[in-house]
Amino acid sequence: MDSKSNSLIAYNVLKEKIINSGFCTACGACEAACPVAALQIEDDKVKRLHDCSADLDLCPICYEVCPHSEALLLRSLRAVSDAPIRNEAIGYYRQMLLAQAADPKLREQCRGAGVVTALLTYGVENKIFDSAIVSQAESGDPTKTKPIVAVVPDDILSAIGSKFFPSAVAKAYGAAVMGYGKTKIAFVGVPCHVLALRKLEAWKHKISGNLKMLIGLFCFGTFSLKPLLEHIAKTYNIKPSDIKQMRLSKELVVQTEKESINIPFEEVQGKILPSCRTCADFTSEFADISVGSAFPLTDWSAVIIRTKTGEDFFFDAVKNGAINVRAVEQEPKVFERVIGPAIKKRIEALRAASKLEETRGFIPARLLRETDLLSRVKVEDIMTINVRTVPSGMTVSQLLELMSTEHHIGYPVINEYFELVGIVTIEEASRVDKKKRSETLVGAIARSNLDVVYPGETALDAFKKMSAQETGRVLVLDPENPQRVIGIITKADLLHALVKQA
Ligand SMILES: Cc1cc2nc3c(=O)[nH]c(=O)nc-3n(C[C@H](O)[C@H](O)[C@H](O)COP(=O)(O)OP(=O)(O)OC[C@H]3O[C@@H](n4cnc5c(N)ncnc54)[C@H](O)[C@@H]3O)c2cc1C
Ligand code: SF4
Ligand code: SF4
Repeated sequence: MDSKSNSLIAYNVLKEKIINSGFCTACGACEAACPVAALQIEDDKVKRLHDCSADLDLCPICYEVCPHSEALLLRSLRAVSDAPIRNEAIGYYRQMLLAQAADPKLREQCRGAGVVTALLTYGVENKIFDSAIVSQAESGDPTKTKPIVAVVPDDILSAIGSKFFPSAVAKAYGAAVMGYGKTKIAFVGVPCHVLALRKLEAWKHKISGNLKMLIGLFCFGTFSLKPLLEHIAKTYNIKPSDIKQMRLSKELVVQTEKESINIPFEEVQGKILPSCRTCADFTSEFADISVGSAFPLTDWSAVIIRTKTGEDFFFDAVKNGAINVRAVEQEPKVFERVIGPAIKKRIEALRAASKLEETRGFIPARLLRETDLLSRVKVEDIMTINVRTVPSGMTVSQLLELMSTEHHIGYPVINEYFELVGIVTIEEASRVDKKKRSETLVGAIARSNLDVVYPGETALDAFKKMSAQETGRVLVLDPENPQRVIGIITKADLLHALVKQA
């Protein structure tokens, strides 16, 4: 077992490191996993119903399955790590494409692509799933999110659309297994929900075998309900009971009977849960299938297929007319709009986590910490050779096109003598004004102050340099000719090396 507990009763650690530190996102995994029913989620808080140490001498479960603990992470990654592509921004995957519900009425109803609803409906109607865990807005209070065990298409339809507040979906999963006896369950959640379910699988918890499909949503963060409602009441004089609907696009749209108020996102950003600030996963990297916006397209979603199970189910739904698909390469902007926020979220999470470690001495986040394993691996054993480079004379427009077709997010830049000039990533490219992209050369924006490694150094050396640079990759140079790039190591390569050893 991967226990990191300093106590025999995990709840003590869960309470100190996660709950009291404000890192709980109220997913309900601890409640679902507890062998003596000692925990309950109520009003987005974990309540201890009785002292479990009276019944048990030792129990590490609730801390380990919590998505905000560092335990079981690598073992959970095994669920997706046989995918052929690994990308430091969006994780392991098989393919990325554009998709929409084939039914135009459904798309109209959800004001978007309706992919998740169409997939779940197809699965339930065809008895591939006997239930689906979805999140409704509570009737009579649209600010509250209610997870339900959907058993018929109408239940699934009632949960259409995103609610930007916590939802105890893992608790509902537990109820589906233990209360309703469901055995073929589809689960929908944001990345931390998805990780909680993968951790239950990695733990081999008795309820985990009933999971049939994990559908993950992209996620920038979840709002903390009370502070947000207080802000809206104070600033806009709108009582929580007057709110009929809330939507998020570039702004938070608050709808009442009489009016609709658009609140700039920056104004409410501070009301996002503390855990979301150290969360590095934008695209639900542990899911079978991940779904998010395909901005600027409004009626298509970006879909990332990660596992064989996800792939078989998804294309079955396509073949039988439930889902329409298009190649993502037809819309280069979509790729940029998925990768950009994913990198931003990762970098901001790393910054927030290192600040936290300074002040509190621990990171309740899913970051690379297995430094002992990394110190045993040599750079030459894990580096990717045949590095794809770009010439310094290429334009930024050409570079972005290349990124979207090859699904790479960074390239070493070389001059006409094949010497290293620097490195260019989607971050530098997207900072160039759109109108100037066709005339700006990659050589002019490449980052030249690089930390590099040599083949004989360790993976830990590479990780430290990578973290210092915040680029997510380091170049490996030829010790005989330090102008020549012979390899590259990304965070995904490091993670892959760790997963293989775990
Ligand atoms: C908190 C949150 C933040 C998000 N942030 C982003 C983002 O930054 N960028 C981006 O591209 N996409 C984001 N998404 C995903 C996006 O809003 C859509 O959910 C996704 O594109 C799927 O669209 P769809 O039309 O296929 O979904 P639909 O067919 O409408 O189905 C949506 C499904 O989401 C489930 N759901 C809704 N709210 C929650 C919740 N709070 N917790 C768990 N499950 C829920 C419902 O059960 C429903 O089944 C976010 C979603 C959530 C819930
Ligand atoms: S498992 Fe979920 S509900 Fe329990 S402490 Fe962790 S985040 Fe909160
Ligand atoms: S940002 Fe991360 S921690 Fe916050 S709700 Fe989304 S997945 Fe969970």
